[in-house]
Amino acid sequence: MTTLPLVDAPRRRAALPPRHLADLDLAGRRAAVAALGEKEFRAGQLSTHYFGRLVRDPDAMTDIPVTARGRLVGELLPTLLSAVREQSCDGGATRKTLWRLHDGALVESVLMGYQDRATVCVSSQAGCGMACPFCATGQAGLTRNLSTAEIVDQVVWFAGLSARRVSHVVFMGMGEPLANYTRVVDAVRRLTDPAPDGLGLSQRHITVSTVGLVPAMRRLADEDLAVTLALSLHAPDDELRDELVPVNQRWQVAEVLDTAWAYAARTGRRVSIEYAMIRDVNDQPWRADLLGRLLAGRLAHVNLIPLNPTPGSRWDASPKPVEREFVRRLRAAGVPTTVRDTRGREIDGACGQLAAAEVAQ
Ligand code: SAH
Repeated sequence: MTTLPLVDAPRRRAALPPRHLADLDLAGRRAAVAALGEKEFRAGQLSTHYFGRLVRDPDAMTDIPVTARGRLVGELLPTLLSAVREQSCDGGATRKTLWRLHDGALVESVLMGYQDRATVCVSSQAGCGMACPFCATGQAGLTRNLSTAEIVDQVVWFAGLSARRVSHVVFMGMGEPLANYTRVVDAVRRLTDPAPDGLGLSQRHITVSTVGLVPAMRRLADEDLAVTLALSLHAPDDELRDELVPVNQRWQVAEVLDTAWAYAARTGRRVSIEYAMIRDVNDQPWRADLLGRLLAGRLAHVNLIPLNPTPGSRWDASPKPVEREFVRRLRAAGVPTTVRDTRGREIDGACGQLAAAEVAQ
């Protein structure tokens, strides 16, 4: 099988960060602790601090001898993420953090607090190689994959800060999660393993969003994980999708949808079809009708996202009446459809714009 260069690992392999407890399963942690000359059960104690109590300060680890603490924390809980900038809106319910990684790469994550739950939107790569022209992250290209622990730690930080319980995680920050497959799947396992080995989230509360890398979607269906798949479709026809989501030139609409239906059949999970509403580009009534025909009767719902215009882009969001008509036609075709709320808009929520602004300075 040939693959697009886009889908491969970064060409110049950037160094991954130091090893962290969240990179390892419990057996790996025991081995790492033993290699440091410590009792294996210290691995469980460290896991309880990090995942269970959300503690990373050695001074608070009073069940571990003082002499061992510094070394264990230094070796297994190195600092991976340093906050460069924080922004909040919606009265503090939405918070976005820009992180600097050990090599200076920048990524961002967003916390969205609701009445009774909180969702963290994580990045899976620094930058992105998928080159979607309406996405801020896509413009800058791929810097590198994140490590498993760099992904997990974004959630653990917010879990330690949030007044509400972090219950949901969406892979909708920077990067194409399925292009960093092994680390993303490992991160899902760390997030969903019961505490204190992991964070104990429900698999059903994790959403992995993809441009539609068909082989990786098939592989994900075989993982025995009940995670929700979100497919960034953005156009129902190949001619337009080739432009909006360039990877479509490799895996086209019919094939990517077939793979999504196979995922739904295998996991029993309803697939979320993401569709950014772009004025006069993909918002015509005939495209709503075509989308409706493609999705009718399938285990799917449509999530319309008002386009968040990126600086310097020629594209804008669809007018509200156009959006309403698009929704009406999809629903008339029997396709459950929602319009995503635009929480975090003022802080360029989750579309790579904060990191882009920082790089531009
Ligand atoms: N690479 C993954 C995850 C990235 S972002 C993917 O493409 O699915 C999550 C969603 O935000 C995707 O559906 C993406 O297409 C969408 N998105 C990116 N830039 C956007 C923008 N400027 N306005 C609205 N949605 C955008």
